[in-house]
Amino acid sequence: MKLRPALLAVFLLGNALFTACSSEDENPQPTPSPNSEHLALGNPSGATGEVSNATNYLLLKPQYALSYHRDRGTPNWVSWHLSNDWLGTAARQDNFAPDNALPTGWYRVTSSSYSGSGFDRGHNCPSADRTATVADNSATFLMTNMIPQAPRNNQQTWANLEDYCRTLVKAGNELYIIMGQYGKGGVGSNGAASTLDNGRLTVPKRIWKVIVVLPEGANDATRVTASTRVIAVDTPNDDALNTAWGSYRTSVDAIEAATGYDLLSAVSESAQQAVEGRVDTGATQ
Ligand code: MN
Ligand code: MN
Repeated sequence: MKLRPALLAVFLLGNALFTACSSEDENPQPTPSPNSEHLALGNPSGATGEVSNATNYLLLKPQYALSYHRDRGTPNWVSWHLSNDWLGTAARQDNFAPDNALPTGWYRVTSSSYSGSGFDRGHNCPSADRTATVADNSATFLMTNMIPQAPRNNQQTWANLEDYCRTLVKAGNELYIIMGQYGKGGVGSNGAASTLDNGRLTVPKRIWKVIVVLPEGANDATRVTASTRVIAVDTPNDDALNTAWGSYRTSVDAIEAATGYDLLSAVSESAQQAVEGRVDTGATQ
């Protein structure tokens, strides 16, 4: 068949585009940040899903994302998006369970690993933040979402902060929350301890949380500006702590310095600089 030059050009161009597109599909480029709504503001420690990355192992679940530390038996941090869509009427399931998503051969913390320790199985992503479905609520009871938390920290200081977060959502906001811990050794209801479960679980010294508050909307990372409210707290894992979470407010920069993480790394450098150096002074309930 004889093609006129113009048609031939269109044919060749189309063919070239087709070839480029199909070769791209066959060899997808690795994405720097995994595509999870819970990591929309970044992956604080650059966690990856390679089994060799045992102290910073990425677990992505529909309900939250986390970096797991095999040798501490706890997450380093857990990150989740909280909006009205996640809130419903599902009951608290209380079905604490080992996480079978961990690589074969890794110790799986069980529902009884904390028994008699004087420390609570403290949720990172709270049960009450995942009530849209029974499956969502169940996921928060996986032991990879837990840390040994002093009862007064968990049941009072932290519970108050968690309640306040949901109050902000009910007021028309959506939140990005990152919770984590560092250091070794806490004081629970039975006194001081550094490890539990025959050394397979490390009791953290400090427990922190960073909360980014945005009015409901789209393209969230790009909407964080110098004036966005960001609440950062860093509390002692000690049963003698104050129950008023507001007294533990600090800057994101201080948490980054203590942990070595880069929080909110998907937010523009200028916005990070502004919000990370500030200590929140807003309402606490
Ligand atoms: Mn709790
Ligand atoms: Mn940062």
